[in-house]
Amino acid sequence: MSKTPKSIRGMHDVLPDDTPAWQRLETALRETAAAYGYEEIRMPIVEQTALFARSIGEVTDIVEKEMYTFDDRNGDSLTLRPEGTAGCVRACLQHGIIHNQQRRLWYTGPMFRHERPQKGRYRQFHQFGVETFGVAGPELEIELIQMAASLWQRLGIEDVRLEINTLGQPAARARHREVLIEYLEGHADQLDEEARRRLHENPLRVLDSKNPEIQPILEAAPKLADYLDEESAADFAKTCELLDALGIPYRVNPRLVRGLDYYNKLVFEWVTESLGAQGTICAGGRYDGLVEQLGGRATPAAGFAIGIERLLSLADTPADMGRADVYVIVPEAGRQGAALRLADRLRRTLAGQRVQCNLDGGSLKAQFKRADRSGAGTAVIIEDEAGEQVSVKPLRGEGEQQRVAAADLDSLLAANQHA
Ligand code: ATP
Ligand code: MG
Repeated sequence: MSKTPKSIRGMHDVLPDDTPAWQRLETALRETAAAYGYEEIRMPIVEQTALFARSIGEVTDIVEKEMYTFDDRNGDSLTLRPEGTAGCVRACLQHGIIHNQQRRLWYTGPMFRHERPQKGRYRQFHQFGVETFGVAGPELEIELIQMAASLWQRLGIEDVRLEINTLGQPAARARHREVLIEYLEGHADQLDEEARRRLHENPLRVLDSKNPEIQPILEAAPKLADYLDEESAADFAKTCELLDALGIPYRVNPRLVRGLDYYNKLVFEWVTESLGAQGTICAGGRYDGLVEQLGGRATPAAGFAIGIERLLSLADTPADMGRADVYVIVPEAGRQGAALRLADRLRRTLAGQRVQCNLDGGSLKAQFKRADRSGAGTAVIIEDEAGEQVSVKPLRGEGEQQRVAAADLDSLLAANQHA
């Protein structure tokens, strides 16, 4: 029987070969957010279970069956966050930072959902999210869409398209809900079990079903669009107009309802064909009711979340950069002290250069092998115990080994660096 511990199913290590791609993406996300005037916020990973039930909605995939919920030692019910919006609003209210003011915030980190693991769907996954508070009107959603579009552009992602819809205001949704329930009741015998169960509690979510067998019934169901309130309809028309004016292509998808209850008015998703069923890489919309629902003063709000793993599988992978630029070779054990001293000096004087010093001895041949594997372009060989004389040997491309005074090494390597 194997005794070595394993990670939890659906929760993955990111190994050193893959972290450069993550870092590149995280840099792009951070810089894009900053370019749009967004500030970072960091929330705890664990929150009170009630927060998610109150904000995401009781009758949703997440709250019904996907949350990692447990009682802590005090008997409080806690949950590993399945998404970031609820915790973000909670933090903003707790610290009074969205009171009578506009706020643009972003966050990134792990989220947890107990789903069936498959490509693009994990139990620990990562999101980058942005939330804006205190700004009403469709221009904000356009700015959010622009921000996402500029990210795709920066990351060289072409195969992605925008789908939008409007969910209207709560009153319009309530009117539509009544006729929808009536319609679905009339076809209950043709629905699947899940749809029948949700029919009364959350009929809009029935429309979101992916079961091909019930699609014809859903296609013919009363459309929310026919029950929209005037303001939402006008805002949606404005959104479409602005997108047209900006040359951002989109498709109106009346079936787009999103899996969380807190949305109203505009909802949108960026989807790709290249990731199979897990094609949504970014999802968001307006959620004007949530702040008040969580006990704050009514505050317009909108945001989106990007699934980082899905985005990563679309973005091109950065070239392998190795892990060192300079490798210090120590031909004799007595020169190790000089080598460590010199290596540390180089790290200070050659800003941005990665310097690795050979440790644990080894033959010259073994050390050069390590130097090669480190990806370094240059080896520095310590020639005496005092570390006064060194040789510089290019490990890639042209160039001869040359012997120099250690004091001249820094400027020589700096010159190489800029050549
Ligand atoms: P889906 O319909 O794929 O289940 P969702 O509507 O549940 O998505 P959201 O709650 O809107 O997803 O989360 C925003 C984004 O986070 C998704 O568009 C997706 O890119 C990513 N995401 C959601 N769940 C997972 C998961 N289990 N594993 C990896 N990424 C995920
Ligand atoms: Mg889901």
